[in-house]
Amino acid sequence: MVNAFSRQQLALLYQLQGSDLELLATHKQLQVIPRQIEQLQAGITKYRAVLTAKSAELGEAEKAQRARNAELEMNAVQREKYKAEQREVKTNEAYDALERQIEFLNQKDGEAEDAILELMEDSDLLKAELTELEAEVDREDKKTFEQTAELQQEQKALETQMTEKLAERKAFLTKIDKRLSEHYHRWFERQKTGFVALGENGTCGSCHIAIQPQTLKEAQKYEKPVYCSSCKRLLYVQPLSPDIPFP
Ligand SMILES: [Zn+2]
Repeated sequence: MVNAFSRQQLALLYQLQGSDLELLATHKQLQVIPRQIEQLQAGITKYRAVLTAKSAELGEAEKAQRARNAELEMNAVQREKYKAEQREVKTNEAYDALERQIEFLNQKDGEAEDAILELMEDSDLLKAELTELEAEVDREDKKTFEQTAELQQEQKALETQMTEKLAERKAFLTKIDKRLSEHYHRWFERQKTGFVALGENGTCGSCHIAIQPQTLKEAQKYEKPVYCSSCKRLLYVQPLSPDIPFP
């Protein structure tokens, strides 16, 4: 381990960490996209439900109208029957009784006609609302379709990107000392955060606690792994000489 350890190894590990954090972010994005697509679909389903309910309302109004019209037809038949009977009756009382029945039918007709007018107004209003709603659903449909396609495209691009990065990663990993990389992977699996912390201006770049002078001196030798006493991350500190590349 001591021999395999070097500043270059730290630099490579730090580079790997950067690309792993990107991979992690891509992975998270990929998990979010299907949920976003589901939400879009749920939105349009809700719109369609409103449209269906409004259609049903119109259907009911039209059905009620038909029932009222049937009532008028039945009344007309009944009225003719009463009139025919009136021509046959022998007494005034019987004639008057039929006349009252006819008046009652006329009154019922009036009520039915009023109801029909009201129902027609309701239907007209519903039809206008439906037309507007249908246009709105069409617009939402189109928007949802476009947004879904965009998300699917993004998903595909991210998947491709991820596959490429994973292949690159596999090749890159061969440059890193096995024990060092094992340690790194154990940390990354557990914490899902970076294992290597940059040390700049005497401070741990991860937890921002000052690095003790003795620790800093040790770390600047790059001879063995030196860890932050606070967050326990592997320290990759700024070299003493500005000629040495960092990070
Ligand atoms: Zn730290």
